[in-house]
Amino acid sequence: MSDQTTGTLTRVDILNIHSIETFGTCDGPGIRLVVFLQGCQFQCLYCANPDTMRSEDGKPCETSHIVETAENMRSFFANGGGVTLSGGEPCRQARKLIPLLRELRARGIHTCLDTNGYVMNKYVEEMLEYIDLVLLDVKHIDPVIHKRITGRSNANTMAFAHYLEEQHKPFWLRYVLVPGLTDNPEHLHRLGLHFQSFKQVQKLEIQPYHRLGVYKWEKLGMKYALENTPENTSEQLTAAKELFEQYLPEVVVN
Ligand code: SF4
Repeated sequence: MSDQTTGTLTRVDILNIHSIETFGTCDGPGIRLVVFLQGCQFQCLYCANPDTMRSEDGKPCETSHIVETAENMRSFFANGGGVTLSGGEPCRQARKLIPLLRELRARGIHTCLDTNGYVMNKYVEEMLEYIDLVLLDVKHIDPVIHKRITGRSNANTMAFAHYLEEQHKPFWLRYVLVPGLTDNPEHLHRLGLHFQSFKQVQKLEIQPYHRLGVYKWEKLGMKYALENTPENTSEQLTAAKELFEQYLPEVVVN
């Protein structure tokens, strides 16, 4: 496949994936091929895809298949679209993603990385060289509450954001607004203040809390801790948007 064009995919790696979505419109600009990598270090209380958490539940996918699918979609990428690596947490498979991303770059296909920012190592650094835009999921500005939500501190995610800023790598912030858990105005102000001076932050996406994944928790035999949490009202989403707009250049509700 990859010898059909001028690509550089000289080796084919096997990724551990959950699924592939063609024609995604929620994970980066334009129409996108979204690859959901399997495995995540976080266990977010509100995770809509808990079936991506455990590495052992994934399935193999050759990187050549992703290149081929992206090539077949090329005409749909005209309005800024491309390939998004999401999850789960893609950075856990950074070493294998480098040749794939290098290939997509060589073919002029736009790439996004949707990450929780927990993993940083030499492979992630190299991978980022071939990423055009990062979607950085910030779960909470407060380390203690972050740990309560995800099971881990937010120190790595914050350091990841600083690394992107230093490397002049454009990124969007993504923030899930969960009533009673992540919507305290004081915390939203703190988050806005923290990122106010970041020149590489192009946008903040508020992601409304939804309960579409609850059935998956039940199917996996895992307890869903937010059983009594309602979805956002439109007033709550508007209030959060207006609050963040005091600090950041563009704020949207995704
Ligand atoms: S970081 Fe994403 S995939 Fe991982 S547990 Fe949290 S919401 Fe789920």
